[in-house]
Amino acid sequence: MQIIQIPCRQDNYAVLIHDDETNLTLLFDAPEHEPIAKILQANGWDLDAILITHYHYDHVEAAASLKNQFNAKVYGPKLRSEGQDYINHYIQDLKEIRFGNIHIQIFQTPGHIPEQIVYYIPSLKSAIVADTIFSLGCARILGGTAQELFQSLELLKQLPDDTNLYCGHEYTQSNGEFAISIDPNNQALIKRIAEVKMLRSKNLPTLPTTLSNEKSTNPFLRCYDAEIRKTLNMQNASDEAVFTELRLRKDSF
Ligand SMILES: [Zn+2]
Repeated sequence: MQIIQIPCRQDNYAVLIHDDETNLTLLFDAPEHEPIAKILQANGWDLDAILITHYHYDHVEAAASLKNQFNAKVYGPKLRSEGQDYINHYIQDLKEIRFGNIHIQIFQTPGHIPEQIVYYIPSLKSAIVADTIFSLGCARILGGTAQELFQSLELLKQLPDDTNLYCGHEYTQSNGEFAISIDPNNQALIKRIAEVKMLRSKNLPTLPTTLSNEKSTNPFLRCYDAEIRKTLNMQNASDEAVFTELRLRKDSF
């Protein structure tokens, strides 16, 4: 089984999973038609299913056109308002979905927006986290609440440390500037920022990241940390209050 990250648009990523044994191919999010179709055609793969994380246009713009070209089924979270006409199956209420050998666990992770799904594939040690968490940062609050996002990230923190996190955007470099302003003496963070700078100078992706990497560098997963609390002058606050303050500061950074 293989997993491929596909750069799309300005700074988006889509993710493909292909199982050689069953010849099944799944796509997670559909930001742009051409780069995704190109990889499918280059490998001679059909597209069996498209799984949507959330309905921001930069994650779904090519869902209908890819569905049509490859005759794929489209799965996604259930909207509170009206549905999307290209969706075949709403999966908000499922805990797990299976395509042949590919077993996917479904997590509800509101905060960025109310309807956001994270797809976790244990056999690949990978989670498609889209816009919940980014390397060195986290989602903006666009319809959800900071409390929801905090709880969603706490849920993702329960995954195994060696889980690969496939984020929806290449935001790592700018996120690093905020992270280091909050946590300036964190040696793991300093090292990661240098690595990111090197990768981006060669136009290489900084993703996927791993949960353990983010636990040691990402301030939004480190609300308990004494140094971060000192920076914020919030030594006695709850982790959730620290998180909310970090999110507010990042908004105007
Ligand atoms: Zn989004």
